[in-house]
Amino acid sequence: MKSILVRGAHIITQNDARQVLKGDILIENGRIAAIGHVRGSADETIDAQGDIIIPGLVNAHTHIAMTVMKGMADDLPFNDFLEKSFAIDAKRTNEDILAGARLGCLEMIRGGTTTFVDMYYAEDIIAKATVESGLRGVLCWAVLDREYTTQKGVPLENCQRFFSEHQGNEMIIPGIGLQGVYVCSKETFLGSKELADRTGMLMHFHLSETRKEVYDHKKRYQRRPADWLQEIGFLGENCLAAHAAWLTINEINDLARSGCSIATCPVSNMKLATGGVAPVPEMMKAGVNIAIGTDGSTTNNSLDMLGEMKTLALLQKSNRWDPTVVSAQQALDFATLGGARALGLEKEIGSIEVGKRADLVIIEGRSANIWPLRKESLVAGIVYCANAGNVKSVICSGKPVMLERKVLSLNEEQVLEESNKAMSGLLG
Ligand SMILES: [Zn+2]
Repeated sequence: MKSILVRGAHIITQNDARQVLKGDILIENGRIAAIGHVRGSADETIDAQGDIIIPGLVNAHTHIAMTVMKGMADDLPFNDFLEKSFAIDAKRTNEDILAGARLGCLEMIRGGTTTFVDMYYAEDIIAKATVESGLRGVLCWAVLDREYTTQKGVPLENCQRFFSEHQGNEMIIPGIGLQGVYVCSKETFLGSKELADRTGMLMHFHLSETRKEVYDHKKRYQRRPADWLQEIGFLGENCLAAHAAWLTINEINDLARSGCSIATCPVSNMKLATGGVAPVPEMMKAGVNIAIGTDGSTTNNSLDMLGEMKTLALLQKSNRWDPTVVSAQQALDFATLGGARALGLEKEIGSIEVGKRADLVIIEGRSANIWPLRKESLVAGIVYCANAGNVKSVICSGKPVMLERKVLSLNEEQVLEESNKAMSGLLG
């Protein structure tokens, strides 16, 4: 594997001291070998004078195969939205899932995401696109009760088979994707937990996204969803809950005690107008690990983590009438270190430190919307000023997947063309 030397950038390390440095980064064998003033040379040199380097962003909740469904279910009441999405989803073929997954990976590369958590059926097809893209995917096979699924066979068994096919792969990490309490029984949750405990897989699930979900569950089980999951003995450190918007303080404490992480999805919640704003300040206070997700392309409609960080910070500030409630630094922490920790990968990714995987995003500092650069406001510049168009180069696990805005891993023209066909097919 080629060694790479990135020269002369502003580096937002995200290390324990949250250091911001000016210097070089040496990459050897896919990992960060040195940071600072690096002498000598490498197989490849990247000049990053005037640029800003951040750790690869972690999108902690998405459904990338849905990127070909952009604009197909916009501006609808929640129930109509669900009906329309499910109707389109039912028509999906392996080809258009692959095309959608490739387009999703392309968009993530261009937006500086290097690790993503996906939830869908057909993760085997999504894995193919992920391998081609060079990104790291935590691919969570959709698991739900048999009576609700369109999958062939038993979802949990399909998930287990997917695990055995990809076990031990550094870039394709299988997980369990429990769709939510409305389609998963106690048996399904506990069966998944048993499989997760045995295999080390992550359990990723939608939780308390809408008020209706919470009240329906309460009517049926006399417990709110997170309370119920705690009571049946499901919650633990290997859990990552998406949305987590409609929670009580008791439930937040349950999440904190169990070590469960959450992926807040501000744009999705706002676009669907579910009325729930995730209680991020209370979760931070209780010690819940927080990550950020974009959700899928019918509810966002983009996979842009730079935009998502800004929206999260603004939503929380606006909602609490308090501009101090989530800082730029905290938003960046959620999108990097928080995501890494949610996946149990905090020793491998999430910051720029010697020994970690080289997941790096080079952002063009000399851009009108970011310039001028000042060390003290670089983090704010990333969260409040930068957008996906500023991402110049992306390195994932030591391999460049985009250099100087040219995507190297995927054939961009082909991906765009194929996904156009896929969209027409779904609408036809
Ligand atoms: Zn989702």
